[in-house]
Formats: sequence, structure tokens, C-alpha cells
Amino acid sequence: MLVDRIGNTPLVRLQRLGRGRLRAGVEVWVKLESFNPGGSVKDRAAWSILRAAEQAGQIGPDTVLLDSSSGNTGIAYGMIAAARGHRLRLCLPKNANTERKKLLRAYGVDVVETDPLEGSDGAIRAARALAAEDPRHLYLDQYSNPANWRAHYETTGPELWRDTAGCITHWVAGLGTTGTFVGTSRALKQENPAVRCVAVQPDAPFHGLEGLKHLPSAMVPAIWDPTLVDEALAAPTEPSLELVRRLAREEGILAGPSGGAAVWAALEVASRLEAGVVCTVLPDGGERYLSEAHLWP
Ligand code: PMP
Repeated sequence: MLVDRIGNTPLVRLQRLGRGRLRAGVEVWVKLESFNPGGSVKDRAAWSILRAAEQAGQIGPDTVLLDSSSGNTGIAYGMIAAARGHRLRLCLPKNANTERKKLLRAYGVDVVETDPLEGSDGAIRAARALAAEDPRHLYLDQYSNPANWRAHYETTGPELWRDTAGCITHWVAGLGTTGTFVGTSRALKQENPAVRCVAVQPDAPFHGLEGLKHLPSAMVPAIWDPTLVDEALAAPTEPSLELVRRLAREEGILAGPSGGAAVWAALEVASRLEAGVVCTVLPDGGERYLSEAHLWP
């Protein structure tokens, strides 16, 4: 089945970006989440959330699945809902880019566009209002649903442990719903409590790092667990976007902006080490952002 192909994405070592900056015993590895069938890390959370709802018998013939998303979760839900025969309504900020809107339309998702000035928090408020209005909706709420972080506890974390043969020393991840960071950090710390978990946020409320949240100025997800954070880094937009371009041109890896922020943070951490294995995920692929003029002038 299509959903069986979610996860087990490739982990590859950066060959050139750290040259001259990293010591010989330091490695930076990136996990390419664009290899998921829906093209992003959110396939893992979306399938975990929908599988839990199916198993709990929450999806009846009249049920309309409902959530908010800045794009990737919606696309992942759209793919899985089509494959499983479910109906889906999605609240999405109106300023989501063309690629996202076209992909959602392609998967047949019923999109409710929300105030662009309110960003992902506006989409959350719209989904809450729709859920309260019409009981046919099953509000999946990726920001509060434990099946979100559990996806990463059960898959992303164990995959990183396996693919580094237990040698991972640092785990770096950007925060959106925080599911990737929380679930993977819990799994890795269970294997080895010495693994350092580094959480990355944009350095400002208004930023160009699609999929990431500036938590001090946003609605904090219920699944967030700050006790897992060994270090917090604030990624600046422009240097992160420059790394997106360098990943493409110097490594042959086409990633999205949040992948640039993840690599920016991974290189910051790695550049201070004498030895270590630093891993991060690139949450989606760059084809989803080719229309963005500030990224690809
Ligand atoms: N990057 C992108 C492009 C995303 O779509 C998301 C999901 N919002 C993230 C990073 C953050 O992942 P998470 O929601 O698991 O924190």
C-alpha cells in the first residue's frame, strides 16, 4: 500500500558545505524527507494521526476530516485521504504559495482560505470555529494530537539511530507543530541520554522559513515539550535561504527553506565540535518553492 512507503527516507552526509569550517572528526548528515510519497516529513504525522482515528473508529461514512496546515500536512492528509477514501477539509492561510494550493487541488482537498495576516494561527482559529459549528467534522488538530509526535518517536528517531549505527551525538530540528523535534528527541534520548537535542526557530515573528514557528509570538502547540531542549538556536531567514541555494549547487540537494534553516543550525553546532555526528531533517523538497522569487531570483 502507498502508506507503507512513508518513512525510511535516505540519510546522506554533507560533502562540501562544511569544508574549511568543520574539524576532521565532525560529520553532518541530512535526512531527505522529500522522499516520502507525499513529498514531506508531514506524511509521517498525517498517517499516524489518520491511522489512530481509523483504529479508534472515529471515521464514519459522513465524517469530514478537518485540520489547519501551512501546507505540507494538508498535502499529506490529502494524499492519504484519497488513498483511504476519506473526505477532507483544510484551513490554509491565503498566502500559501502556488505549488501548495495546486497540490491540494490535485488531491481533491476542500480548502478554506484564511486571513494571510494571521498566518498559521489564523488557520487554527478557523478550523476550531468550523469544528464547533458542524459535528460532522472530525478535527484532527495536529498541534495537540499525540499521534503527531508519536510518528517520529516510532519512525524518525529509530531510523536515525539505526542509520548512524548508534553514533549520532547531536540531533537538530526546526519547530513547527514541534512533532518532529519532540518525538525524535524522546526516541533518541531513550537510546542514549547523552544525545544533544537542538531546537531551531526563526529569529523573528515575520520570517521566510515556511513551516517553522516563532514560538514566543505564536500559539504554543499542546504537544510542545521544552524539557527536551538541550540547546535552542534562532535561524535568520537570509542565511538560511542562502544555504538552500548552496545545498542545491554544492551538494545536489534541492530542499525547502526550513531545510536551509536546519542546515544553518546543524553547521553552527558542528563548527564548535572536536568530533561528533550531527543529524537533521530536511522537511521537504525545493520543487515546492520554485515559484518564490526571493529564494530563486
Ligand atoms: N518544515 C516544513 C516545510 C514543514 O511543513 C513543517 C511542518 N509544519 C516543519 C518544518 C516543522 O515540522 P513539525 O511540525 O514536525 O515541527
